[in-house]
Amino acid sequence: MKASAKKPSEENAPPRVRLGAHISIAGGVDRSVLTAQEVGCEALQIFVKSSNQWRAAPFRDGELDRFRANLASTGIGPVMAHDSYLINLCSPQDGLWKKSLEALLVELDRCEALGVPCLVTHPGAHTGAGEEAGLSQLARAIDRVHGRRPDQKVSILLETTAGQGTGLGHRFEHFEKVFKLVNEPQRVGICLDTCHVFAAGYDLRTAAAYRQTMERLDGTVGLKKLLAIHLNDSRRELGSRVDRHEQIGKGHLGVEAFRLLVNDSRLTGVPMVLETPKGPDYAEDRSNLALLRSLIA
Ligand SMILES: [Zn+2]
Ligand SMILES: [Zn+2]
Repeated sequence: MKASAKKPSEENAPPRVRLGAHISIAGGVDRSVLTAQEVGCEALQIFVKSSNQWRAAPFRDGELDRFRANLASTGIGPVMAHDSYLINLCSPQDGLWKKSLEALLVELDRCEALGVPCLVTHPGAHTGAGEEAGLSQLARAIDRVHGRRPDQKVSILLETTAGQGTGLGHRFEHFEKVFKLVNEPQRVGICLDTCHVFAAGYDLRTAAAYRQTMERLDGTVGLKKLLAIHLNDSRRELGSRVDRHEQIGKGHLGVEAFRLLVNDSRLTGVPMVLETPKGPDYAEDRSNLALLRSLIA
């Protein structure tokens, strides 16, 4: 049998889920891929610039080439990026809204340069202007960005949120509304964060609750729009509207929710990455990944 030939059992086996983690880019985006491999990631999430500054330092000499080469040699992917926490595309203040839009463009351009196919962003906060106004600001921002980058391939993934303060994205209907408002909805998807949806009031802890939450997602946004998942347990209870990530199985969500997720055949190929608290040696990620893999039937 030739080395390239697949055994019949492999051909019939469904492709496995791609599990990974958010990995630091200290030392360069290229370095993050090697760290990810060392930690045991298949999928990867990175920042493409400093997450708490507006400023973006240029990539180093050869960083982009090394990043691509490392992805090729490790087989890690899909890779997704997460944008800066300063960006607020819902802002009613023209100054911050424009600054956010420009910052999002920089992040998208960096993703395009890296060959990273999607950028996760939080919908933003309306800061008192109301949900309707906030969502229409968000849609306007997306249209503006798309208009200025007509040929860009990077998808914007709006992340589900816990709904702290005036933050939007804690109801699936918010995304449904934005997809209806934007001119090019095919360029936008969503990223589901398990801690955030649970804090927002969507239960995932039993087969029945999981099914109901997924039905509500499918009935509003549509499951085909779900392009990435953040795997986080929740330190706070269902519906708390407070965003506190916990290690897998150690929070209010519990192991069963994650068993249901990693075995959901509709989510095959959707990258699932950890954003749980971690130290510099990624020991927590290693044990969370081992636990998640043990749940795959
Ligand atoms: Zn996020
Ligand atoms: Zn998240």
